[in-house]
Amino acid sequence: MSLRFTLHSNPAPASPERRAEILTDPKFGQNFTDHMARAVWTPDGGWGDAAVVPFAPIPMHPAAAVLHYAQEIFEGLKAYRHPDGSVWTFRPEANAERFVRSAKRLALPELPPSAFLDSVTELVRADQVWVPAGDEQSLYLRPFMFASEPFLGVRPAAEVTYMVIASPVGSYFSGGVKPVSIWLSTEYTRAGRGGTGAAKCGGNYAASLAPMLEAAEHGCDQVCFLDSTEGRYVEELGGMNLYFVTDDGRLVTPELGTILEGVTRASILDLAKEMGLDVEERAVEISEWQEGARSGAIREVFACGTGAAVTPVGRLVWTDGEVTAPDTDNEDSVTMRLRRRLVDIQFGRAEDTYGWMR
Ligand code: PMP
Repeated sequence: MSLRFTLHSNPAPASPERRAEILTDPKFGQNFTDHMARAVWTPDGGWGDAAVVPFAPIPMHPAAAVLHYAQEIFEGLKAYRHPDGSVWTFRPEANAERFVRSAKRLALPELPPSAFLDSVTELVRADQVWVPAGDEQSLYLRPFMFASEPFLGVRPAAEVTYMVIASPVGSYFSGGVKPVSIWLSTEYTRAGRGGTGAAKCGGNYAASLAPMLEAAEHGCDQVCFLDSTEGRYVEELGGMNLYFVTDDGRLVTPELGTILEGVTRASILDLAKEMGLDVEERAVEISEWQEGARSGAIREVFACGTGAAVTPVGRLVWTDGEVTAPDTDNEDSVTMRLRRRLVDIQFGRAEDTYGWMR
């Protein structure tokens, strides 16, 4: 039997004035819509208690396993308002499938993709007035699953809670697309062989905070992590995948394994082929970036993810040097052309030839 998320409407939603105030300048992750989706899993009953309910704090037992052992996973995707007023999500099946892969790695129960899609659809339907209509604004959706069983033993929890919350967001860039600067972390790594790098689990992000502070101390916006074995290969940023544009028209991105398989990364692979670029997924040495950006063999570097869609990468900074790829600020760069193509599909300004929108 499939899990359906039925709506229990919020009897006291935010006033239209309050909502309008939030939607004029939506700030990422600060304000939430009137509802949230939830379901609970137990070993005997499986998934049950599925509903879209009024948004509210959740009671939490101090011994809830997630607070001690971080048995938790999450997802991030967006709903976009199209010019005709309709509301669409971007490739939610891909997030549903990644959620299953993350659940396996964290020994959490698998949520069937059909249930994931239903929870997202019903929440967006209930809260569609919260999807902003401004330039590059959207409704950010955050599905997550955590060990809610009150038990201090180290084993997979026997009670797990799934939820989806939603937060209206503005453009990632205030005042136009600007290149991000990157600190190269040589002290810390993000993922090791056999670790949780390919899973979207909270612990990965907790571990990225100290390197983020280090980046800020060096005047950088984001951190780039290298492989943990040799410290030689480029992996990804704390929350985005990386791409390199070479002077002979190739698009190169680090291969999968210990990195997160981004939905945006996968979409760029398709869009790049459409533009006639040769695409390579392979190991990329950090020296290839450092020396290539200097010599011009690498013309552009960009990062991609649900938050920013595509963003040019400006300076790469490390302990005793820095480099910027030559075509970073070019409006007609491959980076900016891929960016426009992607966001035009997401915001319904171009035909969805790939059938990505739901
Ligand atoms: N890498 C990491 C570590 C991330 O957190 C994200 C954001 N989910 C990405 C890459 C990009 O993934 P996506 O395109 O699915 O947002």
